[in-house]
Amino acid sequence: MFGRTELEFQGIQWMLADVATDLEASRLLYKHASKLLGTPEGTVAAAHAKRFAPDAAQRAAATCMQVLGGTGLLTPSAIERNYRIAPVMKMVDGTTEIQRVVIARSLQQYAKTLPPIPEQECQ
Ligand SMILES: Cc1cc2nc3c(=O)[nH]c(=O)nc-3n(C[C@H](O)[C@H](O)[C@H](O)COP(=O)(O)OP(=O)(O)OC[C@H]3O[C@@H](n4cnc5c(N)ncnc54)[C@H](O)[C@@H]3O)c2cc1C
Repeated sequence: MFGRTELEFQGIQWMLADVATDLEASRLLYKHASKLLGTPEGTVAAAHAKRFAPDAAQRAAATCMQVLGGTGLLTPSAIERNYRIAPVMKMVDGTTEIQRVVIARSLQQYAKTLPPIPEQECQ
């Protein structure tokens, strides 16, 4: 663009930095969940990963398409394919909404273990 590469523009650097952070977070969540597989904590760890990564993938695919402008939209590529596939990942193997239900139930269980808040602090 204007004789420069996309990565030389600060606005685009920020967009791609967010994509990179999302990717890193997705990897860490999945690695963490895989380590807890078969343990009591495994279900919630998997729900966190399955909730986060497909949303992140959808954001990443949309951002990368936007960064590539018309080329991203019109040229068949891995990015364009991922843009179509990312929403599917929010559905298969348990939808994103149901992962949130699993996470919320674990929060409810955790809340039951907390001491009651003293009345003075409630006022
Ligand atoms: C191509 C494809 C491959 C699949 N592969 C697998 C697989 O390999 N293994 C597997 O186990 N499943 C698989 N599934 C099933 C998938 O994980 C979902 O469980 C299933 O699609 C949900 O049922 P439904 O489509 O009838 O949607 P519905 O159950 O009708 O849900 C519709 C929408 O409402 C939301 N919703 C439903 N209940 C609640 C609730 N209580 N609170 C909030 N939101 C809610 C859902 O998240 C969804 O977005 C696959 C589905 C598809 C389309």
